[in-house]
Amino acid sequence: MSTKTPITVAYGDGIGPEIMGATLQILEASGAALDIEVIEIGEKVYLRGNSAGIEPSSWASLLRTKVFLKAPITTPQGGGFKSLNVTTRKTLGQYANVRPCVSYHPFIDTKHPNMDVVIVRENEEDLYAGIEYQISPEVTSCIKLISRPGSEKIVKYAFEYARLHNRKKVTCFMKDNIMKMTDGLFHKVFDEIGATYPDIQKEVWIVDIGAAKMADTPEAFDVIVMPNLYGDILSDVAAQIAGSVGLAGSANVGEQCAMFEAIHGSAPRRAGQNLANPSGLLLGAVLMLVHINQPEAAEQVHNAWLRTIEDGVHTYDIFTEGVSTQKVGTKEFAAAVIARLGQKPNTLKPVKYAKRPAAAPVEAAAAAANTVAMELKGVDVFVYWPSRDANALAAVVGKLAGDGLSLQMIDNRGVKVWPGGNVWTFCTDSFRCRYMSEGEATPGQVNSLLQRIVGAGIEIGATQMLRNFDGKAGYTLAQGQ
Ligand code: NAD
Repeated sequence: MSTKTPITVAYGDGIGPEIMGATLQILEASGAALDIEVIEIGEKVYLRGNSAGIEPSSWASLLRTKVFLKAPITTPQGGGFKSLNVTTRKTLGQYANVRPCVSYHPFIDTKHPNMDVVIVRENEEDLYAGIEYQISPEVTSCIKLISRPGSEKIVKYAFEYARLHNRKKVTCFMKDNIMKMTDGLFHKVFDEIGATYPDIQKEVWIVDIGAAKMADTPEAFDVIVMPNLYGDILSDVAAQIAGSVGLAGSANVGEQCAMFEAIHGSAPRRAGQNLANPSGLLLGAVLMLVHINQPEAAEQVHNAWLRTIEDGVHTYDIFTEGVSTQKVGTKEFAAAVIARLGQKPNTLKPVKYAKRPAAAPVEAAAAAANTVAMELKGVDVFVYWPSRDANALAAVVGKLAGDGLSLQMIDNRGVKVWPGGNVWTFCTDSFRCRYMSEGEATPGQVNSLLQRIVGAGIEIGATQMLRNFDGKAGYTLAQGQ
């Protein structure tokens, strides 16, 4: 093979060093051309007082190699330690999380013998933007951010993945019957981008019923793309129902840098006993070999691994009496895979990976925002009103309207309580007052309104400008409005 690809490797904690050792042995025996830089991350780094669990010199290695094969780490108990996974993902712009969830019937016990689903999860936005507030003594909020460029990147990634891996269908899970703006945007982008892939089938499910269908009939799905939170939950469900916990690998992919790992953790109780199954990390490494365009090595390793599973050489976690032929430890499992390099499975479907042209980076469409007409229409003001009496609040804040802005409605947790309202609606201590202008409002009008509210001794918890974008409301109505 020609030049070696530089990669960064971290051995991690718990069972990490054992499964990484086994994985690297197999990769080396397969002839994968890798130039390995080892960095230390995780527990020891955290306990040395580095709250991120990673040293600046390690970032330098990642920025140099742009490819990270990472064993699981142990996050120490107690506050103050930041999740290394979230830090790495966000710092390196890894917007796509890819998890193939495959069953290996009849060699590994599963209720779904024909499951072969790839979950493509948006990795940076949604409720995971981490923008949270307490807006009154009783009420907290978390902002669900879904952007057009973020949605375009992940949806395009899912379709490109499907094309590259010869997948037939991409399904979108979201919930735009409730979240009309955020999930609605994700859905719209899926429809727009999907239309440019006529060779691939498209399907959209509301996430709740989609999740139920996936748990019941996973063979109905192929590639599923979804926003961050749904993807986080459902990729674990998918891995679990494939019957292969401990077997799934995952890729976190960005425009510049990608990270490959097992989906399981560091299983500290199993550490140092030559017990752990290295398969999850090994399959993560296969995703890495495909990513760095070494398909021959990826194919060899993956097929040898399938053959090992098929031959019944199993670690304790997947060992089944009558199906398995040998119960082996981590090292023996690695040796069994190495002994099968060059072989293919007989019953399970062999994999095939092809060399591909250098992939064009998946880029979001050029920002269209500049051409969108934005018109200020008013403001939502969240106020603290501990008496919880909406009519009394309306009497006070209604008088503060004027100067072109009128009080249109008051709601509590999204349910309109004034004008009208229902005596049964439960109210917290935080109310949203919506002030609107007949025509276009000005920032000055909003500013003086806020000053009048504060001047009346009312605590403001949060404000949100209300705008039209190209004449369309950029805000939803309250329930009952
Ligand atoms: P875990 O996945 O480490 O272990 C759960 C159980 O699954 C273990 O007790 C073990 O019986 C089994 N198991 C997991 N991987 C296995 C393997 N390769 N072979 C055989 N059996 C295996 O989850 P946990 O116990 O909740 O977490 C332990 C630590 O791992 C925590 O500190 C957690 O923060 C960390 N963690 C790290 C990552 C990561 O680095 N990506 C992911 C999840 C959890």
